[in-house]
Order: sequence, then structure tokens, then C-alpha cells
Amino acid sequence: MTGGAGFVGSHLIDRLIADGDEVLCVDNLFTGAKANIAHLLGHPRFEFLRHDICWPLFVEVDAIFNLACPASPIHYQHDPVQTTKVSVIGSINMLGLAKRIKVPILQASTSEVYGDPTQHPQTESYWGNVNPIGLRSCYDEGKRCAETLFFDYHRQHGIAIKVARIFNTYGPRMHPADGRVVSNFVMQALRGEDITIFGDGSQTRSFCYVDDLVEGLLQLMNSRDGFTGPVNIGNPVEFTIRELAELVIEMTGARSKLVQLPLPSDDPTQRKPDISLARAELGWEPSIALRDGLVKTIDYFRQLAN
Ligand code: NAD
Ligand code: UDP
Ligand code: UDP
Repeated sequence: MTGGAGFVGSHLIDRLIADGDEVLCVDNLFTGAKANIAHLLGHPRFEFLRHDICWPLFVEVDAIFNLACPASPIHYQHDPVQTTKVSVIGSINMLGLAKRIKVPILQASTSEVYGDPTQHPQTESYWGNVNPIGLRSCYDEGKRCAETLFFDYHRQHGIAIKVARIFNTYGPRMHPADGRVVSNFVMQALRGEDITIFGDGSQTRSFCYVDDLVEGLLQLMNSRDGFTGPVNIGNPVEFTIRELAELVIEMTGARSKLVQLPLPSDDPTQRKPDISLARAELGWEPSIALRDGLVKTIDYFRQLAN
């Protein structure tokens, strides 16, 4: 697995190890942390390799989960050229590896391939509305190009590919300072600071708890031969950012005030997955409501703060 020391990757590894699998975690620790996998170091079925996937990698494995890529706007805009490189050059290397050792490879793609969508909710057949030259483009276009590479390696070289379009996911081990909305709001509430709403807070997102996502990714990897996706993996229950802020305040009992800051450029106004394909092909749908997932997430950030 690439990107295994990150938020999603570390949960996926926990699940694979619990299921009895052997895991090689490949990560350059750019946004990931050893703390996310510290509990696995020394486990007989776990191995960590510090490596940047923009360089070739020669290993022997049975399947590849390709998750390496900074995922939050603050991180992926910190070194945008590197962000495109990890999606494009990193994917080429991992596809080259999959081709050589003839194993299936799953790509962690993103709802960002839909950009600021003009179709709502988004189905996989929607081609998206992405600015190719904006501040978010390194991530969005990098992930779009990665999808192109996956489908061309599939068509040209017969590689078994599985492409997941992941929607906003949250949970324990999110980086507390990566600027994403759930971690920001929870940290601000726990510190009694103002809650920063970008724009008027009427923009929407649909939040999936990380355990649901992990289940979806495993079911996709194990789906029938020939099923490639892309398939949306996300929670279709949509909230405005203001509703999320109010829920976090209520659940933490914080006295924080809501303050408005300017909306970042190209910030999508609405996002909600149509998950009919995941339901039909994988028999998957999320089962954890935002309120329940937030309880665990708030607990995690509380412990981190102490
Ligand atoms: P994360 O930043 O916590 O994890 C990404 C991991 O990739 C980190 O451990 C980082 O160190 C590693 N990495 C980055 N560049 C690398 C490189 N060149 N070589 C090796 N490792 C590298 O992010 P996350 O939230 O866990 O996201 C995991 C994947 O899921 C990403 O590909 C992301 O684009 C995708 N995704 C996540 C979300 C979400 O809401 N969390 C939504 C859509 C898609
Ligand atoms: N690659 C890799 N590990 C492997 C096989 C290939 O990292 O086990 C890299 C290889 O260095 C190459 C890329 O994957 O740059 C794409 O490989 P492919 O076989 O598609 O292309 P080619 O080697 O023909 O350029
Ligand atoms: N957002 C916000 N306050 C924050 C952080 C984010 O209002 O402190 C908004 C942001 O403008 C966006 C939404 O919350 O509309 C989700 O942002 P995030 O960075 O988590 O994910 P993405 O934009 O990639 O969906």
C-alpha cells in the first residue's frame, strides 16, 4: 500500500492486518506520520518502507492500494508541482509495478475530479467541471490524469484496475492542522476559538466516516474480475458547512462563535455522491451517521489535545 502512514491508509492497514493479511506500507511521510502506524511496527505481518513513489519501486506483492498523495488543500498547495508528480509519475511507477508482477491495483481517486459540479448529485458518468490552471488544479487534474493512466494501462496492458472516487472522509488520525473542515471545526471548538466559516457557509459537503470508506475500498478491491469503476465511495447525506459548524458546537458544548472568512478560489459550492453504482456492484453503502462518527472524531482530538 502506498500512502499507508496517512489518515485513510493507516485505517485500511489496521483492517487488513486484522483480516490476517501481510502489509507493506510505502510512504515518504510527507503528510503521513509514523504515529499513525507506530502500533504496527514490530508486527510480524507489517513492514514499513520509507520511499517516494515518484521513484521506481521493485517489490513483490499480491495487490496494490495506491493512496499516496497529499489530500488536504493546505498540503497539496504547499508544493503543487510535487502534487501533480505524485499523481502522475507516482501512478506510472505503481502501474509499471502492477504490470510487471501482474497484480490488481486500486487507485484512491477523488470527488475533486468533478470539480465545481454542474450536475447534482454526481454520478460516475459526469465528466466534471474543473479549472485546469487554478490553485486546486494540481490535485484535481493530477487525479484526473491518474485515472486516464489507470484506464490506459488497463486497455493497453490488461492490468486489473479498481478506481474509487472518494468523497470527503473524516475520522480519528486526520491531521489536526491540515485545514480540512472537520478537523478545523473540532479543534477550534475544543480550544474555544472562533469557528472559521469560509464564505457564507451555504456550500455543501457529504461526510463519510473512515470505517465506511475502508469497507468500501476493500469491497472494491475484492469486486468481480473486470469491474474497474470508477465508483463513487462516499456518504450521500449532504450538509451545509454552517450546519456542520452548529453540530460541532452542540456536540462539544463549546462557546465558540461562528466567524466568516473569504471563500477560497474554486471552492466547490455543492458536493454529494450518487452511490447507486457502489450499491449495485459492491453491495456497499455507508452505515455510520455524521453524529456517530463525530463522537469518535471529537474523542480522538480531545485525547490529542491533552
Ligand atoms: P493523507 O495526507 O493523510 O495521506 C496521504 C499519504 O501519502 C501520507 O501518508 C503521505 O505521507 C503519503 N505520500 C504523499 N506523497 C507521497 C509520495 N510521493 N510517496 C510516498 N508517499 C507519499 O491523506 P488521506 O486523507 O489519507 O488520503 C489518502 C488518499 O485518499 C489520497 O490519495 C487522497 O487523495 C485520497 N482521498 C482522500 C479523501 C479524504 O477526504 N480524506 C477524499 C478523496 C480522496
Ligand atoms: N516500474 C517500477 N517497478 C516495477 C516496474 C516498473 O517502479 O516493478 C516503473 C518503471 O521504472 C517505469 C514505470 O514503472 O518507469 C512504468 O513502467 P512500464 O513498464 O509501464 O514502462 P517502461 O518501463 O516500458 O517505460
Ligand atoms: N471550510 C470552512 N472552514 C474551514 C475549513 C474549510 O468553511 O476552516 C470549508 C471549505 O471552504 C469547503 C468545505 O469547508 O467549502 C470543505 O473543505 P475541505 O478543505 O475540508 O475539503 P474540500 O474543499 O476539499 O471538499
